[in-house]
Amino acid sequence: MSSSAVVWDPAVLAYNLGEDHPFNPVRLDLTVRLATALGVLDDVPLLVPEPVAEEDLFRAHTAEYLAAVKQAPMVGWDVGHGLGPPDNPVFTGMHEASSLVVGSTLLGARCIAEGRADRAVNIAGGLHHARRDAASGFCVYNDCAVAISWLLDHGFDRIAYVDTDVHHGDGVQAAFYDDPRVLTVSLHQHPFTLFPGTGYSAEIGEGQAQGSAVNLPLPPATGDSGWLRAFHAVVPSLLAEFRPQVLVTQCGVDSHDEDPLADLALSVDGHREIYRTLREWADTHAEGRWLAVGGGGYQLIRVVPRSWTHLLATVLDRDVAPETALPRDWADHVRSLAPNAELPVRMTDGAGAAGPGFARWGDGLDDPVDVAVRDTRRAVFPLHGLDPDDPRD
Ligand SMILES: [Zn+2]
Repeated sequence: MSSSAVVWDPAVLAYNLGEDHPFNPVRLDLTVRLATALGVLDDVPLLVPEPVAEEDLFRAHTAEYLAAVKQAPMVGWDVGHGLGPPDNPVFTGMHEASSLVVGSTLLGARCIAEGRADRAVNIAGGLHHARRDAASGFCVYNDCAVAISWLLDHGFDRIAYVDTDVHHGDGVQAAFYDDPRVLTVSLHQHPFTLFPGTGYSAEIGEGQAQGSAVNLPLPPATGDSGWLRAFHAVVPSLLAEFRPQVLVTQCGVDSHDEDPLADLALSVDGHREIYRTLREWADTHAEGRWLAVGGGGYQLIRVVPRSWTHLLATVLDRDVAPETALPRDWADHVRSLAPNAELPVRMTDGAGAAGPGFARWGDGLDDPVDVAVRDTRRAVFPLHGLDPDDPRD
């Protein structure tokens, strides 16, 4: 039985990019309310984070950028560093709120490094686009990069980062592109068709770290079965070879069919299956250590609360059955906020107890997902001593 830490403080809701911005913190509040209403968090002490220390922010960001983030709300002119455009609007308390998000993920990492927990989860984290000297894609500070860097300085030298957000995990990839101690793997919608326009299979890391960046771009409209087929065809073989001491996962849920910002077609059942698989791989390949963070997800009512409740439940070994009905109290609360919203009824999108099925790669099918899988395997498998064309690898 694993011990698990859940990091949560409503103060992270202050990371608020504005009323009309898609990255609305209500999704976190609705998730915690749903998980609570279903009993997932019963008797679970919620760990309250501190803002990250500035010296730890320097692990992933420049001093000039930090100064710009702090000053931006006070000055009326363009401070540069990606701050100000509609994606990354300047807001009051931006440095403080962003520091708390990073502190939350770092607290999870600390619990794992100190042996207080095997698993930790921070649904407010996953700000994977933030760059060393710039905000990007709704992300100010890169909690994933800071936490991985911190782990590298506190007893670990092999960390795998798996990013299942619909967007490429470009900021985390860039932070460790030449560092062979960190394997970054990102599955995402094809960069031709979606922000940030990177994440091609040919991006494999540089120098000694060739092979430690892995990208699997998937065609728009890929659904659960294709996504899971690709996931299994690429990730477990690499984890088995790399033997990470910690698995860090960015669990964005903007890959859902109903997400307004992207065009993959996963379901809540697909998300649940992803988390159960990540848990299994953490146990099998990463000595049981699993740090899970949130990420994107812009269907605020119908998708994020259910998918991340499944994430919390999976981390805690309290899996919620797909057919579970949504509690009336939760639905009443949502209706009080959004009287016209069409609410989901159960914790499934229809796959039910069997979960979404998928066919294994290498069974003779050859569709666009298989082409993507082959390109990625051929780009990186040989660098890990694996045969890209042998489905047993
Ligand atoms: Zn995203």
